[in-house]
Amino acid sequence: LLAAGESGGVASYHPVLDQQSLRRLQLGTELAQAMADGQIGVVFQPVIDAQTSDIVSVETLVRWTHPRFGSIPPEDVIGLAEQIGRIGAVTDHVLDLALARCRRWLDQGISLSVAVNVSAFSLSEPDLVDRIRGALERHGVPGELLILELTESSVVDDSVRESSVLDDLHDLGLRLSMDDFGTGYSSLSQLRQLPIDELKIDKSFVLTMATSQGESFIARSIIELAHNLGLCVVAEGVEDEMTRNQLIAMGCDKLQGFLISRPLPEDRLEKWLLARTGVRSAAPGATHRRL
Ligand code: C2E
Ligand code: MG
Ligand code: MG
Ligand code: MG
Repeated sequence: LLAAGESGGVASYHPVLDQQSLRRLQLGTELAQAMADGQIGVVFQPVIDAQTSDIVSVETLVRWTHPRFGSIPPEDVIGLAEQIGRIGAVTDHVLDLALARCRRWLDQGISLSVAVNVSAFSLSEPDLVDRIRGALERHGVPGELLILELTESSVVDDSVRESSVLDDLHDLGLRLSMDDFGTGYSSLSQLRQLPIDELKIDKSFVLTMATSQGESFIARSIIELAHNLGLCVVAEGVEDEMTRNQLIAMGCDKLQGFLISRPLPEDRLEKWLLARTGVRSAAPGATHRRL
Protein backbone atom coordinates (compact mmCIF):
# COMPACT_ATOMS: atom_id res chain seq x y z
CA LEU A 1 0.00 0.00 0.00
CA LEU A 2 2.82 2.32 -0.82
CA ALA A 3 3.07 4.48 -3.90
CA ALA A 4 6.22 5.10 -5.82
CA GLY A 5 6.99 8.78 -6.05
CA GLU A 6 9.37 10.13 -8.61
CA SER A 7 11.54 13.02 -7.56
CA GLY A 8 14.62 13.80 -9.52
CA GLY A 9 15.04 10.22 -10.64
CA VAL A 10 15.44 8.97 -7.06
CA ALA A 11 12.61 6.63 -6.13
CA SER A 12 11.02 7.59 -2.84
CA TYR A 13 7.95 6.02 -1.23
CA HIS A 14 4.99 7.87 0.25
CA PRO A 15 2.22 6.18 2.13
CA VAL A 16 -0.99 6.97 0.24
CA LEU A 17 -3.35 5.67 2.84
CA ASP A 18 -3.87 7.92 5.82
CA GLN A 19 -5.63 6.90 8.98
CA GLN A 20 -9.05 7.83 7.60
CA SER A 21 -8.63 5.93 4.35
CA LEU A 22 -7.50 2.85 6.22
CA ARG A 23 -10.57 2.99 8.43
CA ARG A 24 -12.72 3.45 5.36
CA LEU A 25 -11.14 0.42 3.71
CA GLN A 26 -11.72 -1.67 6.78
CA LEU A 27 -15.33 -0.53 7.12
CA GLY A 28 -15.87 -1.36 3.46
CA THR A 29 -14.81 -4.96 3.98
CA GLU A 30 -17.06 -5.21 7.07
CA LEU A 31 -20.21 -3.67 5.58
CA ALA A 32 -21.97 -6.84 4.42
CA GLN A 33 -21.25 -8.73 7.64
CA ALA A 34 -22.30 -5.72 9.72
CA MET A 35 -25.73 -5.76 8.07
CA ALA A 36 -26.05 -9.51 8.66
CA ASP A 37 -24.98 -9.11 12.31
CA GLY A 38 -27.48 -6.36 13.04
CA GLN A 39 -24.75 -3.74 13.64
CA ILE A 40 -26.42 -1.70 10.95
CA GLY A 41 -29.95 -0.90 12.01
CA VAL A 42 -32.45 1.91 11.76
CA VAL A 43 -34.18 4.53 13.88
CA PHE A 44 -37.52 6.14 13.13
CA GLN A 45 -38.37 9.84 13.31
CA PRO A 46 -42.05 10.80 13.51
CA VAL A 47 -43.64 13.29 11.12
CA ILE A 48 -46.82 14.99 12.33
CA ASP A 49 -49.73 16.82 10.73
CA ALA A 50 -49.05 20.52 11.37
CA GLN A 51 -52.69 21.33 12.13
CA THR A 52 -53.79 18.34 14.21
CA SER A 53 -50.41 17.10 15.55
CA ASP A 54 -51.47 13.55 14.58
CA ILE A 55 -48.57 11.36 13.56
CA VAL A 56 -48.72 10.80 9.81
CA SER A 57 -45.55 8.81 9.08
CA VAL A 58 -42.10 7.90 10.32
CA GLU A 59 -38.82 8.41 8.47
CA THR A 60 -36.39 5.49 8.57
CA LEU A 61 -32.76 6.58 9.18
CA VAL A 62 -29.81 4.21 9.02
CA ARG A 63 -27.49 3.75 12.04
CA TRP A 64 -24.23 1.79 12.16
CA THR A 65 -22.96 1.10 15.64
CA HIS A 66 -19.49 -0.28 15.14
CA PRO A 67 -17.98 -2.36 17.97
CA ARG A 68 -14.72 -0.40 17.87
CA PHE A 69 -15.40 2.87 16.03
CA GLY A 70 -18.71 3.59 17.75
CA SER A 71 -21.53 5.20 15.82
CA ILE A 72 -20.70 6.02 12.21
CA PRO A 73 -22.59 8.99 10.69
CA PRO A 74 -25.24 7.94 8.13
CA GLU A 75 -23.67 10.14 5.45
CA ASP A 76 -20.44 8.14 5.87
CA VAL A 77 -22.27 4.81 5.73
CA ILE A 78 -24.06 5.82 2.53
CA GLY A 79 -20.97 7.43 0.96
CA LEU A 80 -18.89 4.38 1.72
CA ALA A 81 -21.50 1.98 0.35
CA GLU A 82 -21.72 4.06 -2.82
CA GLN A 83 -17.95 4.09 -3.26
CA ILE A 84 -17.57 0.34 -2.97
CA GLY A 85 -20.63 -0.42 -5.08
CA ARG A 86 -22.78 -1.83 -2.27
CA ILE A 87 -25.37 0.93 -1.93
CA GLY A 88 -28.05 -1.33 -3.40
CA ALA A 89 -27.57 -3.78 -0.53
CA VAL A 90 -27.84 -0.98 2.05
CA THR A 91 -31.00 0.41 0.42
CA ASP A 92 -32.52 -3.10 0.49
CA HIS A 93 -31.47 -3.62 4.11
CA VAL A 94 -33.09 -0.37 5.29
CA LEU A 95 -36.20 -1.00 3.19
CA ASP A 96 -36.47 -4.48 4.67
CA LEU A 97 -36.27 -3.20 8.27
CA ALA A 98 -38.76 -0.41 7.53
CA LEU A 99 -41.33 -2.69 5.87
CA ALA A 100 -40.98 -5.39 8.53
CA ARG A 101 -41.78 -2.76 11.16
CA CYS A 102 -44.65 -1.39 9.11
CA ARG A 103 -46.12 -4.90 8.79
CA ARG A 104 -45.93 -5.44 12.56
CA TRP A 105 -47.77 -2.17 13.12
CA LEU A 106 -50.44 -3.30 10.66
CA ASP A 107 -50.80 -6.53 12.63
CA GLN A 108 -51.37 -4.38 15.72
CA GLY A 109 -54.11 -2.45 13.91
CA ILE A 110 -51.95 0.59 13.25
CA SER A 111 -51.73 1.88 9.71
CA LEU A 112 -48.62 4.06 9.73
CA SER A 113 -46.66 5.12 6.63
CA VAL A 114 -42.89 4.64 6.54
CA ALA A 115 -40.44 6.76 4.58
CA VAL A 116 -37.15 5.40 3.28
CA ASN A 117 -34.31 7.51 1.84
CA VAL A 118 -33.08 6.38 -1.56
CA SER A 119 -29.70 7.68 -2.69
CA ALA A 120 -29.07 8.98 -6.19
CA PHE A 121 -26.95 5.89 -6.91
CA SER A 122 -29.76 3.50 -6.01
CA LEU A 123 -32.25 5.46 -8.08
CA SER A 124 -30.27 4.63 -11.21
CA GLU A 125 -30.02 0.90 -10.47
CA PRO A 126 -32.00 -0.78 -13.27
CA ASP A 127 -33.67 -3.33 -10.96
CA LEU A 128 -34.69 -0.89 -8.19
CA VAL A 129 -38.39 -0.95 -9.05
CA ASP A 130 -38.50 -4.77 -9.11
CA ARG A 131 -36.69 -4.97 -5.78
CA ILE A 132 -39.10 -2.54 -4.14
CA ARG A 133 -42.10 -4.35 -5.60
CA GLY A 134 -40.64 -7.62 -4.31
CA ALA A 135 -40.04 -6.19 -0.83
CA LEU A 136 -43.61 -4.85 -0.59
CA GLU A 137 -44.98 -8.27 -1.61
CA ARG A 138 -42.68 -10.20 0.70
CA HIS A 139 -43.74 -8.12 3.70
CA GLY A 140 -47.38 -7.81 2.67
CA VAL A 141 -47.33 -4.03 2.89
CA PRO A 142 -49.49 -2.00 0.48
CA GLY A 143 -47.50 0.46 -1.65
CA GLU A 144 -49.66 3.28 -0.27
CA LEU A 145 -47.85 2.98 3.07
CA LEU A 146 -44.38 3.52 1.59
CA ILE A 147 -42.82 6.92 0.94
CA LEU A 148 -39.51 7.22 -0.88
CA GLU A 149 -37.41 10.28 -0.11
CA LEU A 150 -35.28 11.28 -3.07
CA THR A 151 -32.92 14.23 -3.06
CA GLU A 152 -33.67 17.09 -5.38
CA SER A 153 -30.41 16.63 -7.30
CA SER A 154 -30.98 12.92 -7.93
CA VAL A 155 -34.50 13.47 -9.26
CA VAL A 156 -33.53 16.08 -11.84
CA ASP A 157 -30.56 14.02 -13.08
CA ASP A 158 -30.90 13.60 -16.86
CA SER A 159 -30.62 9.81 -16.89
CA VAL A 160 -33.28 9.53 -14.17
CA ARG A 161 -35.61 11.85 -16.05
CA GLU A 162 -35.07 9.99 -19.30
CA SER A 163 -35.80 6.65 -17.65
CA SER A 164 -39.28 5.78 -16.42
CA VAL A 165 -38.11 4.97 -12.90
CA LEU A 166 -40.14 7.67 -11.14
CA ASP A 167 -43.33 6.77 -13.02
CA ASP A 168 -42.72 3.07 -12.39
CA LEU A 169 -42.27 3.72 -8.66
CA HIS A 170 -45.42 5.82 -8.63
CA ASP A 171 -47.27 2.98 -10.34
CA LEU A 172 -46.50 0.80 -7.30
CA GLY A 173 -48.83 3.14 -5.39
CA LEU A 174 -46.11 4.63 -3.24
CA ARG A 175 -45.46 8.32 -2.67
CA LEU A 176 -42.39 10.22 -3.79
CA SER A 177 -41.00 12.99 -1.63
CA MET A 178 -38.29 15.42 -2.71
CA ASP A 179 -35.84 15.64 0.19
CA ASP A 180 -33.60 18.60 1.07
CA PHE A 181 -35.65 20.82 -1.22
CA GLY A 182 -34.17 24.24 -1.90
CA THR A 183 -30.57 23.03 -2.06
CA GLY A 184 -30.69 21.65 -5.61
CA TYR A 185 -31.44 23.14 -8.97
CA SER A 186 -34.78 21.88 -10.15
CA SER A 187 -36.62 24.16 -12.54
CA LEU A 188 -40.29 25.00 -12.22
CA SER A 189 -41.12 23.09 -15.40
CA GLN A 190 -39.31 20.00 -14.09
CA LEU A 191 -41.20 20.24 -10.82
CA ARG A 192 -44.47 20.46 -12.69
CA GLN A 193 -43.70 17.40 -14.82
CA LEU A 194 -42.16 15.08 -12.26
CA PRO A 195 -44.46 12.51 -10.63
CA ILE A 196 -43.71 13.69 -7.10
CA ASP A 197 -46.17 14.11 -4.25
CA GLU A 198 -44.30 16.10 -1.67
CA LEU A 199 -41.53 18.65 -1.09
CA LYS A 200 -39.42 18.51 2.07
CA ILE A 201 -37.98 21.92 2.93
CA ASP A 202 -34.28 21.46 3.68
CA LYS A 203 -33.50 21.81 7.36
CA SER A 204 -30.88 24.50 6.69
CA PHE A 205 -33.76 26.93 6.04
CA VAL A 206 -35.97 25.65 8.85
CA LEU A 207 -33.22 25.73 11.49
CA THR A 208 -32.59 29.44 10.95
CA MET A 209 -35.97 30.80 9.88
CA ALA A 210 -36.96 32.03 13.35
CA THR A 211 -33.97 34.37 13.43
CA SER A 212 -33.38 35.08 9.74
CA GLN A 213 -35.86 36.87 7.50
CA GLY A 214 -34.14 35.52 4.39
CA GLU A 215 -34.60 31.89 5.41
CA SER A 216 -38.12 32.56 6.61
CA PHE A 217 -38.92 34.02 3.20
CA ILE A 218 -37.46 30.95 1.46
CA ALA A 219 -39.56 28.62 3.63
CA ARG A 220 -42.70 30.63 2.85
CA SER A 221 -41.89 30.60 -0.87
CA ILE A 222 -41.38 26.82 -0.92
CA ILE A 223 -44.70 26.28 0.87
CA GLU A 224 -46.52 28.47 -1.66
CA LEU A 225 -44.72 26.84 -4.57
CA ALA A 226 -45.63 23.35 -3.34
CA HIS A 227 -49.28 24.27 -2.88
CA ASN A 228 -49.47 25.99 -6.26
CA LEU A 229 -48.18 22.77 -7.82
CA GLY A 230 -50.68 20.70 -5.84
CA LEU A 231 -47.96 19.13 -3.69
CA CYS A 232 -47.83 18.48 0.02
CA VAL A 233 -45.03 20.22 1.96
CA VAL A 234 -43.06 19.02 4.98
CA ALA A 235 -40.61 21.01 7.12
CA GLU A 236 -37.69 19.05 8.59
CA GLY A 237 -35.47 20.37 11.37
CA VAL A 238 -38.20 21.98 13.50
CA GLU A 239 -36.41 22.58 16.80
CA ASP A 240 -38.39 25.31 18.55
CA GLU A 241 -41.92 26.59 19.14
CA MET A 242 -41.41 29.83 17.29
CA THR A 243 -40.42 28.01 14.11
CA ARG A 244 -43.33 25.62 14.50
CA ASN A 245 -45.80 28.48 14.89
CA GLN A 246 -44.38 30.32 11.90
CA LEU A 247 -44.64 27.20 9.74
CA ILE A 248 -48.23 26.56 10.83
CA ALA A 249 -49.12 30.17 10.04
CA MET A 250 -47.52 29.77 6.61
CA GLY A 251 -49.73 26.74 5.92
CA CYS A 252 -47.02 24.06 6.03
CA ASP A 253 -48.73 20.63 5.98
CA LYS A 254 -46.39 18.45 8.04
CA LEU A 255 -43.63 18.91 10.60
CA GLN A 256 -40.59 16.88 11.60
CA GLY A 257 -37.80 17.76 13.98
CA PHE A 258 -36.30 17.47 17.44
CA LEU A 259 -39.15 19.59 18.89
CA ILE A 260 -41.60 16.85 17.93
CA SER A 261 -39.26 13.91 18.45
CA ARG A 262 -35.70 12.85 17.82
CA PRO A 263 -35.18 9.75 15.69
CA LEU A 264 -36.03 6.82 17.99
CA PRO A 265 -35.17 3.13 18.15
CA GLU A 266 -38.29 1.04 17.60
CA ASP A 267 -39.00 0.23 21.25
CA ARG A 268 -38.90 3.92 22.16
CA LEU A 269 -41.00 4.87 19.16
CA GLU A 270 -43.54 2.30 20.37
CA LYS A 271 -43.75 4.07 23.74
CA TRP A 272 -43.96 7.46 22.04
CA LEU A 273 -46.85 6.22 19.88
CA LEU A 274 -48.61 4.65 22.81
CA ALA A 275 -48.35 7.81 24.89
CA ARG A 276 -49.82 9.88 22.07
CA THR A 277 -52.54 7.48 20.99
CA GLY A 278 -53.33 6.93 24.66
CA VAL A 279 -54.06 10.64 25.01
CA ARG A 280 -56.24 10.62 21.94
CA SER A 281 -58.28 7.55 22.83
CA ALA A 282 -59.10 9.18 26.17
CA ALA A 283 -60.75 12.06 24.31
CA PRO A 284 -64.57 11.93 24.10
CA GLY A 285 -65.76 10.35 20.88
CA ALA A 286 -62.42 8.83 20.01
CA THR A 287 -63.10 5.16 19.52
CA HIS A 288 -60.26 3.97 17.36
CA ARG A 289 -56.68 4.74 16.61
CA ARG A 290 -56.28 6.71 13.45
CA LEU A 291 -52.61 7.28 12.71
P1 C2E B 1 -32.31 13.51 5.67
O1 C2E B 1 -32.97 12.41 4.91
O2 C2E B 1 -32.57 14.88 5.23
O3 C2E B 1 -32.76 13.26 7.17
C1 C2E B 1 -32.93 14.27 8.11
C2 C2E B 1 -31.74 14.40 9.03
O4 C2E B 1 -31.96 15.51 9.87
C3 C2E B 1 -31.53 13.21 9.95
O5 C2E B 1 -30.12 13.11 10.21
C4 C2E B 1 -32.24 13.67 11.22
O6 C2E B 1 -31.79 13.02 12.39
C5 C2E B 1 -31.89 15.12 11.23
N1 C2E B 1 -32.85 15.91 11.97
C6 C2E B 1 -34.17 15.69 12.16
N2 C2E B 1 -34.75 16.65 12.89
C7 C2E B 1 -33.77 17.53 13.19
C8 C2E B 1 -33.76 18.76 13.95
O7 C2E B 1 -34.75 19.22 14.48
N3 C2E B 1 -32.56 19.39 14.02
C9 C2E B 1 -31.43 18.91 13.44
N4 C2E B 1 -30.31 19.60 13.60
N5 C2E B 1 -31.41 17.75 12.72
C10 C2E B 1 -32.58 17.08 12.60
P2 C2E B 1 -29.34 11.74 10.11
O8 C2E B 1 -30.14 10.62 10.67
O9 C2E B 1 -27.99 12.00 10.67
O10 C2E B 1 -29.23 11.51 8.56
C11 C2E B 1 -28.52 12.40 7.75
C12 C2E B 1 -28.74 12.11 6.30
O11 C2E B 1 -28.19 10.83 5.95
C13 C2E B 1 -30.20 12.04 5.89
O12 C2E B 1 -30.71 13.32 5.70
C14 C2E B 1 -30.10 11.24 4.61
O13 C2E B 1 -29.72 12.08 3.55
C15 C2E B 1 -28.96 10.29 4.92
N6 C2E B 1 -29.51 8.99 5.33
C16 C2E B 1 -29.87 8.53 6.55
N7 C2E B 1 -30.34 7.27 6.47
C17 C2E B 1 -30.28 6.92 5.17
C18 C2E B 1 -30.63 5.73 4.43
O14 C2E B 1 -31.11 4.72 4.96
N8 C2E B 1 -30.39 5.76 3.07
C19 C2E B 1 -29.89 6.87 2.45
N9 C2E B 1 -29.71 6.81 1.11
N10 C2E B 1 -29.58 7.99 3.11
C20 C2E B 1 -29.77 8.02 4.45
MG1 MG C 1 -34.88 12.13 4.35
MG1 MG D 1 -33.70 16.17 4.35
MG1 MG E 1 -30.12 15.84 4.46
